Amino acid sequence: MQLTSYWQATAPRFDGAQDAVSGHYDVAIIGGGFTGLSAARHLAKSGSKVVVLEAQDVGHGASCRNGGHLNNGMAHGYGEAMARFGSDGARQLYHAYDASIDLIAQVIEEENLDCNFQRSGKLKLASKPGHVAGLKASCDLIRTEADKDVVFLDRAELADEIQSTDAYAGMLYPKSAMMHMGRYMHGLATAVVGHGGDIVENAPVTSMQRADGNWLLTSPLGALSAKNVIVATGAYSGKFSPKLLRHFVRRIIPVGSYIIATRPLTDAEIAATVPGNRTYVTSLNVGHYFRLSPDNRLIFGGRARFSSKSDFKNDAASAKILRKGLMEMFPALSDVEVDYCFGGLVDMTQDRLPRAGQVDGMYYAMGYSGHGAQMSNQMGVVLADMIMGNDDNPLAGMSWPAIPMYTGRPWFLPFVGAYYRFKDIIS
Ligand SMILES: Cc1cc2nc3c(=O)[nH]c(=O)nc-3n(C[C@H](O)[C@H](O)[C@H](O)COP(=O)(O)OP(=O)(O)OC[C@H]3O[C@@H](n4cnc5c(N)ncnc54)[C@H](O)[C@@H]3O)c2cc1C
Repeated sequence: MQLTSYWQATAPRFDGAQDAVSGHYDVAIIGGGFTGLSAARHLAKSGSKVVVLEAQDVGHGASCRNGGHLNNGMAHGYGEAMARFGSDGARQLYHAYDASIDLIAQVIEEENLDCNFQRSGKLKLASKPGHVAGLKASCDLIRTEADKDVVFLDRAELADEIQSTDAYAGMLYPKSAMMHMGRYMHGLATAVVGHGGDIVENAPVTSMQRADGNWLLTSPLGALSAKNVIVATGAYSGKFSPKLLRHFVRRIIPVGSYIIATRPLTDAEIAATVPGNRTYVTSLNVGHYFRLSPDNRLIFGGRARFSSKSDFKNDAASAKILRKGLMEMFPALSDVEVDYCFGGLVDMTQDRLPRAGQVDGMYYAMGYSGHGAQMSNQMGVVLADMIMGNDDNPLAGMSWPAIPMYTGRPWFLPFVGAYYRFKDIIS
């Protein structure tokens, strides 16, 4: 078993980064994940002089360490969103996720990217008999309020979609999609450079200050000035220079999430597990998400343990927990070999809603809370447009207070995990 991201291991390595940086830019972007690179592409295409400073290599954060789902619909309950934002606000937020998948499809077409994008649809599964009524009510509400395309499937109708004793009903979101995250990342970074943007890898920004209306940024690979700064550091905001990005560190909870990839499944194994070839998520609080890879591996993820660490030791321990979860969900795969295991940090906010805007003169977007492979691309474009004078931020006006008694070390995660596991047991 390789303890490395399947997406990175099976994609070409981006080789367009420069090894030093200096001079003046219109926009400096901190973080080379989807948020940062999407903003960079949009700005560079529009003629801005832009640089992305990435502490590791592009995509080494969550953007190439995720489940590979591009799901529409919110991670949040639709009823909760209505209670908080009203009918129009909830609908606008819901459709922002649709727009983010459309944007990715458009980028793929414009840049001619080969990244196995397909409108697979997402199936949200009721994992217990007691979850079926809630799923049906949620489906009815979304159909009435926002999306006539979502469909409820009862257990008999699930047979062509999934073969598991742990799936009692499903809600199908046909607009959802999947893609190879590593190939898309490679294509996106290559497009940034192709449009005239600069990317610098292994360049953690270690200091940042304002002088004469500009920002001065330093990294081990050089210093530069920039008229505008975008912070696109997600769950990794505290990893390289916690004091520098303290505003975000106090608001983002980095939570480890882990994934295993099996060996390629045979046609018979696919027929006995996920014949529908969709993205799948379960209804448990501490549940699983899975899909087939382009080479027919089952990419199976979950919050194996409540930790803010994502390192080899944690990944290996998590592989065992996830393998057990996979066997429970799909007994037909009880002997299947696991070829890859990897983990990443999810940028959770306290209310699991993303945030984007401007603070202390910096533009930022983060907090996608495990549902950001699509929205990060969209919010990168939104930030770029804000800088270019066109403010159309779907997340505008959402307050974002610091988490009380929290300075970036989520000591409370094991307790939160225990609480949600207990809720799953009694639900
Ligand atoms: C295991 C896992 C599974 C997931 N599954 C899904 C899924 O299936 N579908 C979905 O929609 N979402 C999923 N997500 C969430 C999704 O991947 C993220 O929301 C999205 O990729 C965030 O992109 P980003 O560009 O904002 O952040 P990231 O991709 O995390 O990029 C932030 C970058 O900032 C860099 N950085 C940090 N500090 C500095 C600094 N000081 N200087 C320079 N660079 C810095 C980091 O090195 C990092 O590369 C998952 C996340 C994880 C971890």
